[in-house]
Amino acid sequence: MSLYVMKFGGSSVGDIERMQRVARRIVEKQDEGHQCVVVVSAMGDTTDDLIDQAMLLNPNPPAREMDMLMTTGEQISMSLLSMAIHQLGRSAVSLTGWQAGFRTEPVHGRARIMDIVPDRVNEALQQGNIVIVAGFQGMTEEGEITTLGRGGSDTTAVALAAAINADVCEIYTDVDGIYSTDPRIVKCARKLEEISYDEMLELANLGAAVLHPRAVEYAKHHQVKLVVRSSFNYNEGTVVKEETSMEQGVVVSGIAYDKNVARISILGVEDVPGVLATVFGALAGAGINVDIIVQSGVQDGKADFSFTTSLSESGQALQVIKDLRSTLPYREVTSEDNLVKVSIVGAGMISHPGVAAEMFDVISKQGVSIKMVSTSEIKTSCVIEGGNLEQVVRALHTAYNLDTDAQVFVGGPQDRR
Ligand code: ASP
Ligand code: MG
Repeated sequence: MSLYVMKFGGSSVGDIERMQRVARRIVEKQDEGHQCVVVVSAMGDTTDDLIDQAMLLNPNPPAREMDMLMTTGEQISMSLLSMAIHQLGRSAVSLTGWQAGFRTEPVHGRARIMDIVPDRVNEALQQGNIVIVAGFQGMTEEGEITTLGRGGSDTTAVALAAAINADVCEIYTDVDGIYSTDPRIVKCARKLEEISYDEMLELANLGAAVLHPRAVEYAKHHQVKLVVRSSFNYNEGTVVKEETSMEQGVVVSGIAYDKNVARISILGVEDVPGVLATVFGALAGAGINVDIIVQSGVQDGKADFSFTTSLSESGQALQVIKDLRSTLPYREVTSEDNLVKVSIVGAGMISHPGVAAEMFDVISKQGVSIKMVSTSEIKTSCVIEGGNLEQVVRALHTAYNLDTDAQVFVGGPQDRR
């Protein structure tokens, strides 16, 4: 007998029929002799719809009331799912986040979990129930209801799995698992059998929407074994665990892209100590996230530098730079938004030098120029012109031997020549 946490996302419980399918799936798991704790998201687009309604009444709603509103979405799905399970002749009990023992910091809209006291979950399990817990919610010490931030039900599931010492945390979603790249762009993208926490974290941060980055962080920290799989079929999913691909000699496990990229360039800045501190201090003060920063050569005491930010924040970032002009003289500031960031991710990159060079080579053979680069131990990202995205992702996918019809080999693109 194993203890499973099974998390079902909004699309998996999107309507009554899907809810019934999920109920059957849980009962099957119990029939195999396992204990089941289930975490659910709000049905379909419920959370978005609730936000839309709030905005109609008040475009700047109080954060506390938003949390009161948003947490109802998960309470609808948990209670309906429990009823569907009862209809199948099993006993189930649904619990809100706070009933399940989720204590959070006193922040509305994106609270972090401070502590979980899952006594009621354990009790209900011991009484033979299937336990259903509302995702994405908790309560502060003062008894205020909070939410964990959009997509937070993944984190609820992983944190609960850690707290009750579950054997596995299964994340049921509308895709079969984690893919080597977006299957909408590369038809022969492969579903990964397994991926390491670190790789998954990079991919999640780079915008692979299947898992929430915070949930992956939590899973890594608490060594929770994750399985990402479809609620619509019985295909094996992707296992997310400690080290994987390195051992198998796979250098690059996945290719991610981000279309939400803008580049701002500040040209002809006086090259004195503290320039970067001034600029990025001002941007941080305005709450703007900066990704890649590049400073180019100094000429006649003047430097140029560029940084990237998300498209949605670029207008604000540009304004911050313009406002700085009196304290920080520069010749010109420009902003470009037809850009994308393409990244290769692989734990094997640590032990294989030359992977970045290989990436640049593949991109240049496509006749595409690279505007910016950033690297980490297990990731290399290149910013390129947006129009070239699909072509470049396909070329990299082939070069790193990720196409499904390709032969499996050991050692990276070089070895194939
Ligand atoms: N329902 C919440 C959202 O849509 C939480 C979740 O789905 O994980 O963000
Ligand atoms: Mg949702």
